[in-house]
Amino acid sequence: MPYTANENRYENMTYNRCGQSGIQLPLVSLGLWHNFGGIDVFENGRKMVLRAFDLGITHFDLANNYGPPPGSAEETFGKILKKDLKPYRDELMITSKAGYGMWPGPYGDFGSRKYLISSCDQSLKRMGLDYVDIFYHHRPDPNTPIEESMMALDQIVRSGKALYAGISNYRPAEAKRAFEILKDLGTPCLVHQPNYNMFDRWVEDGLLDTLEAYGVGSVVFSPLFQGLLTDKYLKGIPEDSRASKPSGFLQTDQINEENINKVKALNDIAQKRGQKMAQMALAWVLRDKRVTSVIIGASKVSHIEDAVAIQDNLSFSPEELEAIEKILK
Ligand code: NDP
Repeated sequence: MPYTANENRYENMTYNRCGQSGIQLPLVSLGLWHNFGGIDVFENGRKMVLRAFDLGITHFDLANNYGPPPGSAEETFGKILKKDLKPYRDELMITSKAGYGMWPGPYGDFGSRKYLISSCDQSLKRMGLDYVDIFYHHRPDPNTPIEESMMALDQIVRSGKALYAGISNYRPAEAKRAFEILKDLGTPCLVHQPNYNMFDRWVEDGLLDTLEAYGVGSVVFSPLFQGLLTDKYLKGIPEDSRASKPSGFLQTDQINEENINKVKALNDIAQKRGQKMAQMALAWVLRDKRVTSVIIGASKVSHIEDAVAIQDNLSFSPEELEAIEKILK
């Protein structure tokens, strides 16, 4: 059956302005790092993307290396675009990145101009797109002058292959330098993509302040610590979970007694709030207004529905926040 998008898709989603820019992003975005690769079931990925769009999720996060095999998540997304989402292209924010190892030899990794520009070309081909909305440098490169990487982003934007530039995983001092160079080049950085969740709070130590000062938005990844901050692992490691898959990045040693005890205590608070653990973890990340959007991962449609439903219960009482801090200490 040909896909027709839900007419009411914009009625129940909040869109936050991304830094000081013209772009608004949905409170919840969908990332295609896991579960959309060539090894995964295409129809499941398609269902998740279409359900997300029907719920008002307009922002889909990809990278050259997502799969496995690397590149195949972009191919999956390209197929969904061709089959279903082409008429809606202008309603979508589609992103890609380069910065991690993608092809053999010295030109398929890190931050050279050669790598970033040719990788962007490859991503466009895999997705069947003329341009992506945001192109990111995926991680800082200690051995390439930052000017070279930023000039490559500027050129990608100027040549029409991306509409905006972003950076990911840059620490505050590196991020400042990147923002200054991009501003001087005339392509201000739209967004930074760091990880942020209850167990990993490095962004609170200067990064969010820096983003605010420079008017740059933040879309934060792994808000559920890859699934650990849900009720999924409270009774062991389920067979179909990320931690049980050889291609999954969540390591079994991270599902240790100390972390699970914390999640159990957090889960009690979530239940008192009438929320699932996953929902409370997402709402908690979004309590800081400098966070533009949370990029979730999903293996089933219900994960996306759970995430979108947090909008009914985003606020925390001071007592709840204090109780959460006590557990996280
Ligand atoms: P999350 O922390 O949201 O983890 C997603 C996983 O949590 C899902 O795959 C699922 O696990 C589980 N989950 C989600 N919702 C629920 C729920 N309601 N109940 C129970 N379990 C749930 O995010 P990711 O780590 O997947 O990262 C999200 C995106 O961020 C990526 O797709 C990518 O786009 C981006 N990213 C960017 C990086 C960067 O360097 N810039 C690095 C990593 C990610 P399961 O599969 O086991 O069911």
